[in-house]
Amino acid sequence: MNPETVTSAPPACAFPRFDNTYARELPGFSVPWQPVPVAAPRLLVLNEPLAAELGLDAAALRGPAGAAVFAGNQVPEGAEPVAQAYAGHQFGGFSPQLGDGRALLLGEVIDRAGRRRDIALKGSGRTPFSRGGDGRAAVGPMLREVLVGEAMHALGVPTTRALAVAATGEWVLRDERLPGAVLARVAASHLRVGTFQFFAARGDTARVRQLLAYAVARHDPDLAALPEDQQARRFLERVARRQAALLAQWMGLGFIHGVMNTDNMTISGETIDYGPCAFMEAYDPGTVFSSIDHQGRYAYANQPAIAHWNLARLAETLLPLLHADADAAVAEATAVVDAFPGWYQAEWLPVWRAKLGLAEDGAQDQGDIRLAEAWLRLLQEHAVDFTQAARALAPAAAGDEAPLRALFAASDGGPAGIDAWLPRWRARGLREAAALRAANPRVIPRNHRVEEALAAATAGDLAPFEALLAALRRPFDDDPALDRYAEPAPAAVTAAYQTFCGT
Ligand code: AMP
Ligand code: MG
Repeated sequence: MNPETVTSAPPACAFPRFDNTYARELPGFSVPWQPVPVAAPRLLVLNEPLAAELGLDAAALRGPAGAAVFAGNQVPEGAEPVAQAYAGHQFGGFSPQLGDGRALLLGEVIDRAGRRRDIALKGSGRTPFSRGGDGRAAVGPMLREVLVGEAMHALGVPTTRALAVAATGEWVLRDERLPGAVLARVAASHLRVGTFQFFAARGDTARVRQLLAYAVARHDPDLAALPEDQQARRFLERVARRQAALLAQWMGLGFIHGVMNTDNMTISGETIDYGPCAFMEAYDPGTVFSSIDHQGRYAYANQPAIAHWNLARLAETLLPLLHADADAAVAEATAVVDAFPGWYQAEWLPVWRAKLGLAEDGAQDQGDIRLAEAWLRLLQEHAVDFTQAARALAPAAAGDEAPLRALFAASDGGPAGIDAWLPRWRARGLREAAALRAANPRVIPRNHRVEEALAAATAGDLAPFEALLAALRRPFDDDPALDRYAEPAPAAVTAAYQTFCGT
């Protein structure tokens, strides 16, 4: 280890003041722990826009001091690193103890907008929750978190975000030997459905109660004064509504999370853990990319149902707080959980109205749902690219159907495939083309582009990663310079595409 990198502390002004409520107010919910220093920290990415939001001194963090902090060799002043405890249903099977096996919450800061944000490291070494794992992460999967998280943010989707990635100068052993990296991740909080499950599974109602109070104070402070039973019910409802909104956004973008285990579902409503995630190309509701999702549990079209299932698991943890009488508690929980499909549908419809550019005037729920479903059926029948087709609706709304017809022309059905749908769509009354462009991105993290960038970065060349990241930050831009990022992969590439957890 290079002693210089271990001792070079960042200037005191580099980080704003930490205020670590999780470590302070919830002893027993985590284990105080230190990152394991690495051989040769080197900063690969510093997210300057996010650093600015947090009030961080980006210039001070750009140098070796920043590399030391983000690699875990130097704990910033005021941070109190902890490994958080959580449980989780993984592919439907319950693991009573998961926890931060390769992550540490450094602490919380208040950002420039007054919001409390967690700063955590991922890949920072073994912890008491590591089980068989090495506590480490590889460069590729950590840069993938940067790419997809920043893309989601630019697309307006609630998400955790990468603040930095530091290379460790060490190898990690997966199927092959890969360069190691540590990710610094920012989140509204790291509270998960699985955090509640950890204590509920142990019958520790006192700690579930404490966790509820903490979560409410942090995410739903307007519920803080309510009596506990009402608070628990309203909190469950809030989490469900946030997830309904999130899932509707994912579905509108063709985003497939890939591993919607209950430990990967946040209370805040932010997307978390960009492991085996991928974006749909040609529309097919059954799309699965994850190599370990053999049953298609987390297939594109199953995601809202899985969110519903996960919320039922959260509801179970709250039963003792919902009502003193067990049957009445189940009835309360069921009423909220059963409302989820309706809330999801209520979020889905405006997403699709915006995507199809349907005017406010003449909005008619059943008719609009049928129009959107007919659109999706057409995309599926003709195996048309989900993102490109929606983007082509903007010129079509302005009278130029050529880009949309060209997409269908390339399919078996030929350009006539869209003939019957277009007059129905026009008859409904449309918004301006600009509104359609703002609702339908041109640039998303295309799987082949992500892989190309990560492979180059793993081999030491960050240029393709940086170019892709810059493109993903302008998802609605028509700049022809972004053309190569807007094109789908060849169908044969997509058909064989698999993603991995990167653990
Ligand atoms: P994930 O698939 O990243 O959501 O991780 C699921 C669980 O496995 C969490 O408890 C992680 O902390 C743990 N885990 C994943 N990879 C590793 C690793 N390399 N070393 C230790 N724990 C890990
Ligand atoms: Mg996880």
